[in-house]
Amino acid sequence: MRPLKPDLYTVPESPTSVPELLGGRCRCGYVFFPMQSYGCEKCGLTGDAVTAARLPGEGSLTASARVLMHAAKDRTPPFVVVAVRLDSGPVVRSLLDSDRAEQLPIGTRMRGLLAEVGKADDGDVIVDLRFTPVQSA
Ligand SMILES: [Zn+2]
Repeated sequence: MRPLKPDLYTVPESPTSVPELLGGRCRCGYVFFPMQSYGCEKCGLTGDAVTAARLPGEGSLTASARVLMHAAKDRTPPFVVVAVRLDSGPVVRSLLDSDRAEQLPIGTRMRGLLAEVGKADDGDVIVDLRFTPVQSA
């Protein structure tokens, strides 16, 4: 299994585990995604004040939009774009793991997963981050 964007998230050892997003944390407490080392967007500290942080891929839905037509020929609609506020703070934009005509309510609990998006030349499976609603028990 090979991540499409290895700088953005981890591939957990267990396929049922939630991937972690590779973000950062400032000494002031501000948490951000993706990781960058230019400095804190909130307080301006730079250098060792900003460190890498692994952010659990869990949060709640803040927005979603179903795309029925897309300019890029390699993006086959329909699909659903979601914005998820991670429990650690940052809002990330990604795709829902499957198309869905019915809109999910804002606030729906969401978790990340890695979905197969293609195969490498050597046959290795390429995966990318998606989000799925957490089924309530
Ligand atoms: Zn800061």
